[in-house]
Amino acid sequence: MPERIQTDQDRLKVPDHPIIPFIEGDGIGVDITPAMIKVVNAAVEHTYGKKRKIEWKEILAGEKAHRQTGEYLPEASLETLREHVVGIKGPLTTPVGGGIRSLNVTIRQVLDLYSCVRPVRWYGSASPLKHPEKLDVVIFRENTEDVYAGVEYESSSAEAKKIISLLLDLGVGTDKISADAAVGIKPISPGRTKRHVRKALRWALEKDRKTVTLMHKGNIMKFTEGAFMRWGYQVAEEPEFKGKLNVNDRIADNMFQQLLTRTDEYDMIVAPNLNGDYISDAAAGGVGGLGMAPGANIGDHLAVFEATHGTAPKYAGRDQVNPSSLILSAAMLLEYLGWPEAAKTIHRSLETTLSRRTGTYDLVRGWRNEGESNLTELKCSEFAEALMENMQ
Ligand code: NAP
Repeated sequence: MPERIQTDQDRLKVPDHPIIPFIEGDGIGVDITPAMIKVVNAAVEHTYGKKRKIEWKEILAGEKAHRQTGEYLPEASLETLREHVVGIKGPLTTPVGGGIRSLNVTIRQVLDLYSCVRPVRWYGSASPLKHPEKLDVVIFRENTEDVYAGVEYESSSAEAKKIISLLLDLGVGTDKISADAAVGIKPISPGRTKRHVRKALRWALEKDRKTVTLMHKGNIMKFTEGAFMRWGYQVAEEPEFKGKLNVNDRIADNMFQQLLTRTDEYDMIVAPNLNGDYISDAAAGGVGGLGMAPGANIGDHLAVFEATHGTAPKYAGRDQVNPSSLILSAAMLLEYLGWPEAAKTIHRSLETTLSRRTGTYDLVRGWRNEGESNLTELKCSEFAEALMENMQ
């Protein structure tokens, strides 16, 4: 009988037939989501036989929700995610410079999914790095504060003028702020920083990661990013963590070059929102791009796993794109359920499939650009079939 996942204090109670809600996603969601479901079902059956099985439950969000209900993010969908604790989603469209607010950001904020987790490792795609196998890092990006909180006011608006006038009263000189400036606010608090760092350090201990690097621009933004670093070190001194991990810090610009030049020294990176946003995609570029990079947004219990790329509208419905990001996100979900063996089945099968130089157009393009031949280009659905065949 399919059952809901329950929470018991700090632990998840996962039945053998858990109900997992999923959002298909806009654009290429129609291609990658069915591929992901097939591969995950096959991996679970391959690993556990009939003992375990996921019961998938579709919930509406994005354009499909708007067509069927008139709303982009129905409250019922959020409630289903809350009730079922763990879910997965395809990408959702966000119009640039107007229209609806980002549904992705809204889901993270409404459900208080305060840490975005992005593991980056190499499975065999083409890479701009000489030694992509050295890149194996988990990035923890704070999800609820920083400039992403969305507190910003347009140039010359009444709100912006009011804030500028307050700043002038506080002694900020006109050399630093023009009267017609747009204004954005960068809130970073001890409470939200510490819960995020705690989650990251717990993750490090559980997954046997030894080194955790706090990434910040605290030399310039002393009271926001500098404080992020200080509060991070304070968490590392708590009895739960003290002496168990090597916690260090890097200034953000240096972090970018160090990840390229001293790649294998980085195990986990913990960052405020904007730094985390940039470094996640830059790191993903080293292992084949966003099509190969999984992600999850995790709160105290609730977790929503998601593809890290967008809706790639020009490929929508063409059965062409790479489903790996969503499939690897589902593998993270399996680990989160406490089913790591099934996640390993997926990882191994992806490595085998790529080692045979079979892949979707983006993977084949990458290998071809590196001068390789004997490549087999597969459609999205064929790639999913190949992953299922290559499960050992
Ligand atoms: P995008 O959808 O990620 O696509 C940009 C390019 O990345 C594609 O043209 C394609 O490049 C490549 N790509 C993306 N996904 C791929 C996949 N699965 N397989 C192979 N290649 C893939 O970014 P965008 O065009 O900037 O954004 C489109 C929409 O998505 C926007 O509305 C944006 O707001 C939204 N978005 C949503 C999320 C989310 O839901 N979490 C995240 C980011 C963006 P080539 O054409 O070069 O092959």
